[in-house]
Amino acid sequence: MAFGGSPLDRAGYHRTDPTWLANQRSRGLFLPFWKSQPLLRGEAIALLPGRPAWEGLQAVFLGLDDGQPLFAIDLPDDPEPVFDGAAFQEMRPAAVILPARDCAIAGQAKAMLDWHRRHRFCANCGAATTAEDGGYRRHCPNCQADHFPRTDPVVIMLPILEGKGGLDDHCLLGRNARFTNGLHSAFAGFIEPGETVEDAVARELEEEAGMKIGAVTYHASQPWPFPSSLMIGCYARALSRDFTVDGTQISDANRRTGDGRPQPSAQSLMRRWAMAIGVGMRMSSAISPASRARASALLNHRASAISVPSTMNSRLSALA
Ligand SMILES: [Zn+2]
Repeated sequence: MAFGGSPLDRAGYHRTDPTWLANQRSRGLFLPFWKSQPLLRGEAIALLPGRPAWEGLQAVFLGLDDGQPLFAIDLPDDPEPVFDGAAFQEMRPAAVILPARDCAIAGQAKAMLDWHRRHRFCANCGAATTAEDGGYRRHCPNCQADHFPRTDPVVIMLPILEGKGGLDDHCLLGRNARFTNGLHSAFAGFIEPGETVEDAVARELEEEAGMKIGAVTYHASQPWPFPSSLMIGCYARALSRDFTVDGTQISDANRRTGDGRPQPSAQSLMRRWAMAIGVGMRMSSAISPASRARASALLNHRASAISVPSTMNSRLSALA
């Protein structure tokens, strides 16, 4: 699962102790970030010993890797830092090539450093806040408010429809109005205050596809550090084969069997469902070689991963 399954012991009971934390930092290894990009060496994250020049920069304790303390550190935007044999890389493409453990560590680091960048001042009184507990709390010395890292839950779902033979062998995919290449994706949306996962799945499908649904089944979840989401993958049983598109977020929707051409974001949900109903799932020959390779990597190496569809990327980017 991309960004999930971190091997680190976050040592939550120790990181609130400043003396313990200082000892860890003195022997820690650091994953540098520059403009929200992790430093990579080849196809792995680059972990470096601390440097005197990094004193005072925003650092976050990531956890213990078999006893070795790891930290993330946010380097200044200017000038661009240079490291021999290593380079800063955008997180999304990096997530495709990194080993699962490195992807999880880098994702945690990015989510935490992004949060610090966007929460330097108290949301209650506007005063500058200080990072505490290894970076897992920001404290306001003016009004004494404490602020904690946030995670925004998002549902991504595949509605399952009954086919002509009475089998649940069709699903519904949406096509965003911005898509120009014929790709379709799973439906997705933020969970709103006061909603359960099931409520959010039902509301999003009603809003975007005019679809009434019954039972909702949990599939898997995935941290999504752009900047701070948790994707919750679900199946939803449609109560009928009727649907309409809203014309704004969704311009088209298709009923499909397990064969077809879904966007990679929908493929984990599609794949497991297709296996369950025994129809298999083929790649369309219309997919470009690059897309095929990327999709193949997702399916072969991250078989249970779910990725965010483009419809969510734009909404998440707007919050960054
Ligand atoms: Zn305050």
